[in-house]
Amino acid sequence: MSKKRDLFAQIPKVDDLLNKEQIKSLGEKVSRTIIVESVRENIDRIRKKIIKLKDCDVDTFKIDYDELLENIVNSINNKNMINLRKVINATGVVLHTNLGRALLCESIKKDVWDVASSYSTLEFDIKSGKRGSRYAHVEGILSKLTGAESAMVVNNNAAAVLLVLGTLAKNKEVIVSRGQLVEIGGAFRVPDVMLQSGAKLVEVGTTNKTHLLDYEDAINEETAALLKVHTSNYKIIGFTQEVDLKDLIVLGKKYNIPIIEDIGSGTFVDFSRFGLCKEPTVQESITMGVDIVTFSGDKLLGGPQAGIIVGKKKYIDQMKKNPITRAFRVDKLTLAALEGTLRLYLNEKEALRKIPTLRMLTISLEEIKQKADLLYKRLNENIKNCFIEKINGFSQVGGGSMPLEKLPTILISIKPKFLSINKFEEMLRNNKTPIITRISEDRVLMDVRTIDENEFNMIVEGIVNILSNWG
Ligand SMILES: *Cc1c(COP(=O)(O)O)cnc(C)c1O
Repeated sequence: MSKKRDLFAQIPKVDDLLNKEQIKSLGEKVSRTIIVESVRENIDRIRKKIIKLKDCDVDTFKIDYDELLENIVNSINNKNMINLRKVINATGVVLHTNLGRALLCESIKKDVWDVASSYSTLEFDIKSGKRGSRYAHVEGILSKLTGAESAMVVNNNAAAVLLVLGTLAKNKEVIVSRGQLVEIGGAFRVPDVMLQSGAKLVEVGTTNKTHLLDYEDAINEETAALLKVHTSNYKIIGFTQEVDLKDLIVLGKKYNIPIIEDIGSGTFVDFSRFGLCKEPTVQESITMGVDIVTFSGDKLLGGPQAGIIVGKKKYIDQMKKNPITRAFRVDKLTLAALEGTLRLYLNEKEALRKIPTLRMLTISLEEIKQKADLLYKRLNENIKNCFIEKINGFSQVGGGSMPLEKLPTILISIKPKFLSINKFEEMLRNNKTPIITRISEDRVLMDVRTIDENEFNMIVEGIVNILSNWG
């Protein structure tokens, strides 16, 4: 036992470790609490190791002081790393919900930061010096861009649907096609949300076919609205029929019942012009005469997370007065980012160039090839012991948008010679700036569509580091 006692005595004291240069120097950027905690934890780990030592191992056991210091520095750095942080999306899924969906555009950075770090006109009208409305900042521009009479913004599209139904259809009936009772993901099911709103769901038609007559037959004095949900994330193919929005609108007019459309991934840009599939645009729905349209801010629109409601003023005024609106209220950061993003749409060319989501979706294959060549070249110049190839593949839109769309792209395929592919993927994921890739056929694939050229260096450095430690 006394041998173990000797070992315990050899464990460095907390204060001595704190005075080591490597640890002391971290004190400039890391809080003392984190440093002391890391030192204690690592000392504790050694103590436990000694306790567990078998008698036959006690003689040979040595405390490795260099390793101890290195472990302490590593745990300090890990603890000091912010949890919600940048990653490199090499998956090729443009609207990757788990990686934060749409990316904001660089050019709005200053405006957003100004509002975040200064007092602002959030609810203050400069002209009159009186209280203003937080919705006013984006209402005008949303009306201008969509042609709608009025607009408002809540936290996300799920909240928008809830607010619209809760305001227009509480304790009343809403007619919706069975084929549109979708689950969007993250447990957002249209029927559940409708239930929460207090609206009574009246399902018409069948999974694959709904006719106009099905809607008309279901209309009665309890009917508050006809709802159309854009089935963004799935397609029924084959013997199918949906009622045209146009016909639904005519029906609504005939019975004086408002038409609500949850368009999901709201876009102002007609993507079919770029060879992608046709997604309904918000303007088209408004022009056709839909009374209320709801959509997300951070899907195809390419802005911050938000739920946008546009349409007839008389309905939106009712929503603004609904007390539940307060619970869905958007933050000033969201409003600043949304206004900045929307302003770019005043010039569509500029929007396509500057808004990352639009840029990544409409970039030409030629440009993708150039990007891939560049990354391929840099990797080849700097990395040994890997098979690196360029291969053809497909990117996805993601975010439950355009589910059938396969965007042709170039993938960089990497296979280390001396490291298992699962370990390699794990190390990439645990890189200082995590690199999120996918594995296919025993190699790691990186899609350059969703990687910014500014990130190429980080990728090369990351891989060099991984292989120098493991290769
Ligand atoms: C994505 C989506 C939603 C949910 O939008 P969030 O902004 O994520 O809350 C609702 N309806 C449809 C049709 C969608 O595609």
